[in-house]
Amino acid sequence: MDASSSNKNPVIDHVAQEARFGARNYAPVPVVVDHAKDCLVWDVDGREYIDMMSAYSAVSHGHLHPRIVAAAEAQLKKVAVMSRAYYSTTLGPFVQKLSEVTGFERVLPMNTGAEAVETAIKCARRWGHRIKGIPDGQQKILVARGNFHGRTSTIIGFSSEQEYRTGFGPFDGGFQHFDYGDMASVKAAATANTCAVLIEPIQGEAGVLVPPPGFFQELRAWCTENNVLLIDDEVQAGLGRTGKWFAFQHEGIRPDALILGKALGAGLLPVSAFCADDKVMQVFTPNSHGSTFGGNALAAAVALEGLKVLEEEKLIEQCAEKGEYLFKRLREIQSEVAPLIRGVRGRGLWVGVDIEPSCTTARDLVERLAKGGVLSKETHETVIRFAPPLTITYELIDKAVDIFRGVCQQKYRELDLGRKTNTVLPA
Ligand SMILES: *Cc1c(COP(=O)(O)O)cnc(C)c1O
Repeated sequence: MDASSSNKNPVIDHVAQEARFGARNYAPVPVVVDHAKDCLVWDVDGREYIDMMSAYSAVSHGHLHPRIVAAAEAQLKKVAVMSRAYYSTTLGPFVQKLSEVTGFERVLPMNTGAEAVETAIKCARRWGHRIKGIPDGQQKILVARGNFHGRTSTIIGFSSEQEYRTGFGPFDGGFQHFDYGDMASVKAAATANTCAVLIEPIQGEAGVLVPPPGFFQELRAWCTENNVLLIDDEVQAGLGRTGKWFAFQHEGIRPDALILGKALGAGLLPVSAFCADDKVMQVFTPNSHGSTFGGNALAAAVALEGLKVLEEEKLIEQCAEKGEYLFKRLREIQSEVAPLIRGVRGRGLWVGVDIEPSCTTARDLVERLAKGGVLSKETHETVIRFAPPLTITYELIDKAVDIFRGVCQQKYRELDLGRKTNTVLPA
């Protein structure tokens, strides 16, 4: 393409405009999305992509699911935002439904995941003081190393990731770290002032790390014995992503509180929630906590329809089967291109492909995948995350995996990896 036509190229314009006027807190993959439908996305030049990322699980229902769009449109003819100063016709049905699917007595709606995590932190601290009897201001919450719970200043204050926290202090403390999956480390970090353990059932941003078998059962028992709340952050793992409604169900435990977000907004809106039984939730009384937009009529209508779609379209059962198939295919590729891929891990339709750092970066392969028509996203230097909408078909899984295979084989040839292991790539 010559210089004069590149001036008019809308891809270049959109990228340049964001880069010129937007804050530089993201480094997007260079794809300018124009529109999307279910698992497919088109850029401004009409190129088609398979969405194997689904906005970090926020688009588990697929893009613009017709039932969810219809629910939003119907509500938009009535009322969208009134604040919680009044009752609405949609919040009641939504909180009842969410209470039924989670098994928790009460639901506190917020907007973003980070806000629901903040809600959990406030709840745990007040519970620690009022119910457990810890002096106010001395409550401690245990968090795992490698955690990701959002980006507010309180939350990044207990991140172990330097990039997320450096220069953003001072941090107000009140958190202690343990090693994810290590019960001895939990016990060593705890004190009499520990009011809660806040934990992800699978560490997503850390690289889709699945805990060792039995860890959550031990943690559950320890929390019960020590009168410590077990707070499960399923903002990314929840609502079917792992092949069950909630990831804690794989562990055979029930937490004391559950945090949801991302897919709760059914791919349309930010909707999050903090769920707990009355004995925990009771610490919130009128005026003690809230959000202007939290639980607004439009959000509640959309989220309710999203829950019904998951259930009625059997997306969660299908996720378990499709996830097994995706894993099987990725493991085949892993053995074909050894040692390029160090590991394939995860649960359901949530996979981290761990790239051998001496071969290349995850970002390199993510950009090649985008050129090939597959959207994914790296996390840290070495992990490529695949988390397609739960509505994905086997046909699209195959297509995406074949493109990934092509990208891996290309890298394999470039690095001449076959020479080292003396293997010839299968055709
Ligand atoms: C994404 C995420 C959050 C934060 O959600 P936002 O909507 O980005 O604020 C919190 N916890 C986990 C586990 C997440 O994956």
